[in-house]
This record gives sequence, C-alpha cells and structure tokens, in this order.
Amino acid sequence: MTGIYDWNPMPHKVDVKCPCCVSKAAFEFAEVVRISKKEDVPFFQASEQFEYRRFQDSCGHFWHGALYFAGLHGSPSRALLSLPEGYSPTNWQHSKYLYRSHGTDLGAVSCPRCGKRSKHQLRWPADAYYSITYKGDELWAFNRESAIELIDYIGGNSRNVSKYRWSNFLLHIPSIFKSHKARAEVTKRLGRLL
Ligand SMILES: [Zn+2]
Repeated sequence: MTGIYDWNPMPHKVDVKCPCCVSKAAFEFAEVVRISKKEDVPFFQASEQFEYRRFQDSCGHFWHGALYFAGLHGSPSRALLSLPEGYSPTNWQHSKYLYRSHGTDLGAVSCPRCGKRSKHQLRWPADAYYSITYKGDELWAFNRESAIELIDYIGGNSRNVSKYRWSNFLLHIPSIFKSHKARAEVTKRLGRLL
C-alpha cells in the first residue's frame, strides 16, 4: 500500500512537517469560489487577499476562481470586509471535509516553532507529520486527534470503528498495520510523534 488511502475526503486542516524546520506545522487548504460574472474578475485579480486562478472543468470549460487562504489571512468572516455584490465571506468558509475535486492541493502552512507562514502545495501523504513507515508501508494520520484514535484503534482488540470520531478514516487503514504482529511497533512509533 503506497500513496493515499482509498479515501478521497480530507479534513480542511492537517498537521504537516514544516518545510523549513520539519517540526509540526499546520496546513489549511485554500478555499475556491467560482467567480460567476466576468466583470468581477479584475477585483479578485487586484485583491491582496485573494489569488485568482483559471480552472478547467472535466468537460474542458474554463472557469474563474478566487482562492482564499484562511491559513494566511484568518477567518473570512473577519477578514473579508469588502466584496463585489453577490458574494459573502461565508462563501469561503470551509466545511469539515474538503473534496479535492478542483484540481488543487494548495493551501497555507504555518509553523509555531520557526514562524514559517506561506502558501504551500500539499503533497499528501508525503507531508504528513503523523507518519511512520512499517515494513515499507506508510501509515499516517491527518492530525493529532486522528493519530490518537489511530493508536487506540490499532492497539485495541476491537475492529469496530463506530465509537471513534474518525471512524471513516480508521475504516480504511490497511490490514498490515492492524495485524497482531504489527501492533506494538506501530503504536509505539506513532506514540512518539504525539
Ligand atoms: Zn518550522
């Protein structure tokens, strides 16, 4: 098993290795909103709070998108005070899971340790902070909370995921990590990252 688990949705925020100092940093996906009227494009192109991009849908049609990086500028409802008519700051408010369907893994990284704060193209799971390799396979978790549940789940005897908050994620853990042989090693190494 390599690469991304067989599961597409990601939380909006994940813990990553800081690109500068490799300690734990926060990554937050950028939120994209479609610019519906062409005359609004110059506003988003000129704005320092947005990044303008042209996207292409699966049919080959181009559309205009306004990306907002909450990881750099803060909550959209506090930061976006003036927008063209028809837009609301909540348009850029994120939901719990992000379906990575608009072809970008762009977001912002911020590191409490070295102060690094910048736009960042996520490489997942290579960037995952809570990540270990066991017998050549990579096991990762999205963030501290899911890592704690992962350790509890792997270390326990029950394979029932229903009591966990991250049950959907745990359901997709490859069986090699759940084997009796792997348990002690895997939980110990993940535990060191907490
Ligand atoms: Zn750092």
